[in-house]
Amino acid sequence: MKPKAALKMISPKEKVISPKGGDIATHMQDMLRLLGEDPHREGLANTPRRWERAMQYLTSGYQTNLAEVVNGALFTVNFDEMVLVKNIEFFSLCEHHLLPFFGKIHVAYLPKDKVIGLSKIPRVVDMFARRLQVQERLTQQIAEAITEAVSPRGVGVLCEAQHFCMMMRGVEKQHSGTVTSAMLGSFRKNKDTRDEFLSLVGRP
Ligand SMILES: [Zn+2]
Repeated sequence: MKPKAALKMISPKEKVISPKGGDIATHMQDMLRLLGEDPHREGLANTPRRWERAMQYLTSGYQTNLAEVVNGALFTVNFDEMVLVKNIEFFSLCEHHLLPFFGKIHVAYLPKDKVIGLSKIPRVVDMFARRLQVQERLTQQIAEAITEAVSPRGVGVLCEAQHFCMMMRGVEKQHSGTVTSAMLGSFRKNKDTRDEFLSLVGRP
């Protein structure tokens, strides 16, 4: 067995110490080095492992699916007025820069004979937001998932977001927002339905 003093003499820079964590952490350590940092200095020593866990959480939407999220929370009803859940906060990562984009999503649908448990709608949003995304696809996927889950007469989804890749780099416009919408079924065909939705979310 080597004395402890001998171990201390090996400089971290001479010997590659792989970080705790998995392959993602190992690659992150290399990235830190390539960016000109010393990945072994105190403040960064556990960063690769932390980053790996953060990224796994921020992309955890890949580990689930619609059936699991809805989990049978569908109810037969005699109700055909608009159901709206508005101001659902979301945080996602843009697939072009792996930088956050975030904001609010409003989801509405006109039931035919079924409704979905209200708390499930933000979970559907999270399932798609916690993946690498573009805002347009995120908006569309939520609308399609609600359609698949409840077979409604129509679905409207509006997403208002700010993108760090625009705010911190590129055009560096801090206050510009991006709005995307997906209108399916009666929300697409019927202007009154669409207008009702947009006025309820404050975007007439
Ligand atoms: Zn981007």
